[in-house]
Amino acid sequence: IERTLVLVKPDGVRRGLSGEILRRIEAKGYTLVNLQLRAADDALLAAHYAEHEGKPFYAPLVDFMKSGPVLAAVVEGHRVIEGFRTLAGTTDPTAALPGTIRGDLGRDWGLQVQQNLVHGSDSPESAEREIGLWFPQA
Ligand code: ATP
Repeated sequence: IERTLVLVKPDGVRRGLSGEILRRIEAKGYTLVNLQLRAADDALLAAHYAEHEGKPFYAPLVDFMKSGPVLAAVVEGHRVIEGFRTLAGTTDPTAALPGTIRGDLGRDWGLQVQQNLVHGSDSPESAEREIGLWFPQA
């Protein structure tokens, strides 16, 4: 059985969509195995987004991720890593298909960074690394 790290980003929490997003995850049949609402600091975000360091959207991305609390979840299920990314839809909410979290609930606000409601790990290696960053005690 697989695990992934899901984040409801500050835009999702601010808009009151945490419950709706968790509902979709559970309705799909995945299991929530850990949950925490927390503020992310620079050290955590630098580690989480290490692969994007130096890209033009990196600084706005880190600022955005510090703009409010983030809901971190460890989600378990058969092929959940790919499955959650399908549920989330493509990175750009304008292009994300209806039926997906970003397609149904997200829009492009014309900002420097895509405020696209959620994050989901993209591989088993990233999932274990990211779970270790967000849930160091687990
Ligand atoms: P996530 O990893 O958040 O599920 P993703 O894999 O589709 O989404 P990444 O390529 O890992 O996206 O980028 C991380 C985040 O950085 C995106 O979710 C988005 O918020 C932001 N981002 C990525 N690419 C761009 C871009 N070209 N312009 C603005 N923001 C971007």
